[in-house]
Amino acid sequence: MLEKFFILKDQYNKLMYERYGKVDSLNKALLVTWFITGFLNLFFHSILVGFIVPAFFFLAVFRFMSKNTVQRLAENRRYKKYADKISAFFKIQYKRIAEYKTHRYYKCSNCKAYIRVPAKKGKHTISCPKCGKEFDVKVR
Ligand SMILES: [Zn+2]
Repeated sequence: MLEKFFILKDQYNKLMYERYGKVDSLNKALLVTWFITGFLNLFFHSILVGFIVPAFFFLAVFRFMSKNTVQRLAENRRYKKYADKISAFFKIQYKRIAEYKTHRYYKCSNCKAYIRVPAKKGKHTISCPKCGKEFDVKVR
């Protein structure tokens, strides 16, 4: 029994030799997309989506089995760059709503950084902590 397990493990290692073999962020996103769209399509029965849904799964499998590790790592890096930007945007929007009574968020016109300011009514001059540019804001 245990011997059979080791034989299987050995066969798996031979199969995966020099292959990417990682469930990285991009593969996780592909699998989650595959699962969610596939689940939703159980209710909508779209033929077009039905054709696209398996592509997410096969793309994840292709990346997992790929021998071009350098390319797969580069893809994952590019994906993470955009995913981090999007998640940072939604985090700011969430904070904006959650802290609305006590703070306001402004975007610096020079460097695009978000600036968190106490919500004191009236006109104020604030300076960006990142680039130092000063500008006027009106808190209502
Ligand atoms: Zn700035």
